[in-house]
Amino acid sequence: MGEATDLQAAARDGVVVVGAGQAGAATILRLRANGFAGPITLIGAEAEPPYQRPPLSKKFLTGEYAKDRLYLRPLAAYAQLDVTLMLGREVCRIDRLNRRVELDDGSTLPFGRLVLATGARPRPLPETLRGTFENIYLFRTFADTQRLQAEMMPGRRILVVGGGYIGLETAAVARQLGLEVVLVEQADRILQRVASDETSSHFRNLHRSEGVRILEANRLLELDGTGGRATRATLSGEGEVLFDFAVVGIGVSVNGELADEAGLEVDGGIVVDSRCRTADPAIFAVGDCTSFPYQSGRTRLESVHNAIAQGELVADAIAGKQVGPYAPVPWFWSDQFSTKLQIAGLNAGYDRVVRRPGGREDSLSVWYFRAEALIAVDAINDARAYMTGKRWLEAGITPNAAAIADPAVDFKAAS
Ligand code: NAP
Repeated sequence: MGEATDLQAAARDGVVVVGAGQAGAATILRLRANGFAGPITLIGAEAEPPYQRPPLSKKFLTGEYAKDRLYLRPLAAYAQLDVTLMLGREVCRIDRLNRRVELDDGSTLPFGRLVLATGARPRPLPETLRGTFENIYLFRTFADTQRLQAEMMPGRRILVVGGGYIGLETAAVARQLGLEVVLVEQADRILQRVASDETSSHFRNLHRSEGVRILEANRLLELDGTGGRATRATLSGEGEVLFDFAVVGIGVSVNGELADEAGLEVDGGIVVDSRCRTADPAIFAVGDCTSFPYQSGRTRLESVHNAIAQGELVADAIAGKQVGPYAPVPWFWSDQFSTKLQIAGLNAGYDRVVRRPGGREDSLSVWYFRAEALIAVDAINDARAYMTGKRWLEAGITPNAAAIADPAVDFKAAS
C-alpha cells in the first residue's frame, strides 16, 4: 500500500502539534487558514495558550505591557477554530509504529501527521555552582518572568550571568527599574557568539554609560549564601561580587529527547530536510528545535521569524500545497535601553567587517563579508541600513565594500 498523501493522512487521523509556542501556533493557525478541516490538537507543557516571548525580556519585564497583550490569540479563538488545546500537558513518547503519542497521564492520541515544535530550554548553571539556591533565575516563560519581576525592586543588586541577548536585555531593564547591575560574561566579549567586535563594543559602551558593570572574560567560580539565597559570587578575574538575586542567560538546550527516543536523528537539533520533514514521512519538526539545511551546511535558528516560517511551511505541506525548499534570510532584533539592534543574515565564517556610521551619533551598521560576498548586517539604530542589507541579502546582491564604508555614499550608489 502506498504512503497516503499528507492531506489524506492528516484529514483521517488528524494533526498533532507538540509544543504550543510561536512555531506550534503558526502551524495550526495556517492549517485552518488553508481550509484544512481535519482534527487538530495542540499540546503545550505550559499552562498558557501560545504567546510571544520577545517582550518577556523587554516591555513585559518593565511592566509596560500587560500579559493579555502577549497572547497570540485569545483562548476562545482556539475553540472557534475547532483546535483542541491541551495545556499543562506533556507528551512522553512517540509511538511511530502505531502513529500515536503517549501523554503524561497515560492516555494516547493518534496522529496522521505529527509536528514537533518542542523548542529549547535555558541551560542552567552546573549543579555544583547553583546548589539549592532559590534566587538564581532562568528566563524563558511567563512564569519565569513573573518570579523575576517580584525580585526587581529599585535599589536591589542583580547579578546577570551571560552576555547574550537574555543577559543584556535583562540588564537594561534592571537599570531602567533602578537596580544595581553586574553582568558577568565568560567569553572575551559580550555577544561573541552572534556579533563582531564592533557590535560588541557598541553595546559594552552603551551598557557602561547606563551604569551596568560589565565583567568580560570572567568565569563564575563559586556562589555562597544563607537561608536558601545566594548573595556572593566569586569570579575568576574580578574577585567577589555581592548581590540580592541572579539571572542566568547562558544559552539553551534543544528539546530533542522525544525525537531522539523515537529513533529520529537529533544532531544539535532535530534533523529535518529543507521541507521540515524528519526521516519519518509522518513527522515534521519546526522552530527553535530544528537543524535544517542552510547554504552548504546545516543550522539551527532561535528566532520568531524562523518559528513562524517553518510552521507555515509545514501547514502548507500538510494541506497539500507545493512548498519549499526553505531558504530563509534570518533576521533578529534586540531592544536595550533606547537602542535597537536589527540583524539580517548569519555572519558565521565572516572574513571581513565594514563599519558604516549612521546619520545619528548613536547609529551604526556593521557589514559582514565572506569570500567577498555580503552575508550579514548588524544595524544599530539604523532601520535604513537594516532594510537595505536585508533586501540585498534576499536578492543575493553584494554591495561595494568601500562605498559602504563611506557614509557620504548613498546606499543606492553602493550596489
Ligand atoms: P545566548 O545568546 O547563547 O548567550 C549566552 C551567553 O552566555 C553567551 O555569550 C555565552 O558565552 C555566555 N555564557 C555561557 N556560559 C556562561 C557562564 N558560565 N558564565 C558566563 N557567561 C556564560 O543565549 P541567551 O542570552 O541565554 O538567550 C537564550 C535564548 O533566548 C536564545 O535562543 C536567544 O536567541 C533567545 N533570546 C533572543 C532575544 C533576541 O533575539 N532579542 C532576546 C532574548 C532571548 P559563550 O559563547 O562563551 O558560551
